Amino acid sequence: MRLSNYFLPLLKETPAEATIASHQYMLRAGMIKQNSAGIYSWLPLGLKVLRNIERIVREEQNKAGAVEMLMPTIQSADLWKETGRYDAYGPEMLRITDRGDREMLYGPTNEDMITDIFRSYVRSYKDLPKLLYHIQWKFRDETRPRFGVMRGREFLMKDTYSFDIDKEAARLSYNKMFVAYLNTFSRLGLKAIPVKADTGPIGGDLSHEFVILAETGESEVFCHKDLVEMDAPGDVDFSGDLSNYVDERTALYAAADEMHDADEFAKIPEDKQLTARGIEVGHIFYFGDKYSGPMKAKVMGPDGKEHVAMMGSYGVGVSRLVGGIIEASHDEAGIIWPKSVAPFGVGIINLKAGDAEADAACEDLYNQLSDAGCDPLYDDTSDRGGVKFSRMDLIGLPYQVTIGPRGLKKGVVEIKNRRSGERHELSPAAAIVFLQ
Ligand code: ATP
Ligand code: MG
Ligand code: MG
Ligand code: MG
Repeated sequence: MRLSNYFLPLLKETPAEATIASHQYMLRAGMIKQNSAGIYSWLPLGLKVLRNIERIVREEQNKAGAVEMLMPTIQSADLWKETGRYDAYGPEMLRITDRGDREMLYGPTNEDMITDIFRSYVRSYKDLPKLLYHIQWKFRDETRPRFGVMRGREFLMKDTYSFDIDKEAARLSYNKMFVAYLNTFSRLGLKAIPVKADTGPIGGDLSHEFVILAETGESEVFCHKDLVEMDAPGDVDFSGDLSNYVDERTALYAAADEMHDADEFAKIPEDKQLTARGIEVGHIFYFGDKYSGPMKAKVMGPDGKEHVAMMGSYGVGVSRLVGGIIEASHDEAGIIWPKSVAPFGVGIINLKAGDAEADAACEDLYNQLSDAGCDPLYDDTSDRGGVKFSRMDLIGLPYQVTIGPRGLKKGVVEIKNRRSGERHELSPAAAIVFLQ
């Protein structure tokens, strides 16, 4: 992408309404624009990151055996009345009436709808387990939308739903998602801690939140330090027994806010006690027959009898993660994207646009890096060098390549690592090899 052809509307000043780094940088870097409270347009740079996160979330869901589908954003109230949630959900739900006076709503979550889909088609235990997911916009009329996309009203969520014949089998599905989440967050460059959670309006009796530590987090997290150090499981056999991965983590104390038990926490050796602020980026629930019961989602069991399907649901805040990653990875100059989600792989800075030699060298590098799949953003504008450097730092691409007449005389370009700040000079050919 050539910057002269792109749409990157940067802001010079930090907007007063933005109080935390991720919100400030997302606005300043031209990633989002607020249209009304908690409702945003995703500008090109922001959308690229959102899509990258979505892709990683999708790949890890697929690996775990979940199957993608897509449900609508607008739902009929009828299903919600069947489960009794239409009244229970409260003012966070955006209620809509269509021209025929039918009660509709903008879905805040999809348990009721997926249960209806399941009961329409699935009849036998032989079709279980079933893990279905979609990545779809949700709406919750939050009392205090704030922190940009971290607490929006309209937000993108990945939600998976599991159906099993009994509680034991449902536990296996729960474990699959537990492990898939550890792998997902690790690929996003995050250390996410599974903490014991309250099940809230979704209901149920087994639940974990995945929380990333950040000073600006809205919840208070108490946990064993070793949890933060543990690596994600990585390549595992999702058809096998995953309980060891889950058990070795849940054996360590971790709880947030109202689930915290000070006496239990005190039993951890003092040097291992960690108290910190955290951002909830994912949440998994087992809730058994809470929806399948009232909605009569039953399958025939091996015993020839009908069994109510045992369910779980598993959410990831895809759009919240854009802000969450920035909270976890930035400095005074701007964002520092982990490679896996960066909007472009590398930025090319032409220090002397208009100079025939510099232009030719940049064009050449740009074409070769594009062919090599590095997805370069080429700053071909006539702005001053200082402007170009601070713009690249702000948008946080993992590498910057600077090309100018002085280097070209020596036959080199300069590569800067955005995270470490390290710079070194390489020939253009070596730079391409290095950046691949
Ligand atoms: P919170 O405690 O932050 O209000 P929640 O517990 O109400 O979140 P869940 O119902 O567990 O949210 O939804 C699953 C995931 O969706 C959350 O873990 C979070 O990452 C994301 N999410 C929830 N509400 C919002 C929101 N208003 N804006 C952005 N993401 C959200
Ligand atoms: Mg909430
Ligand atoms: Mg919550
Ligand atoms: Mg939650």
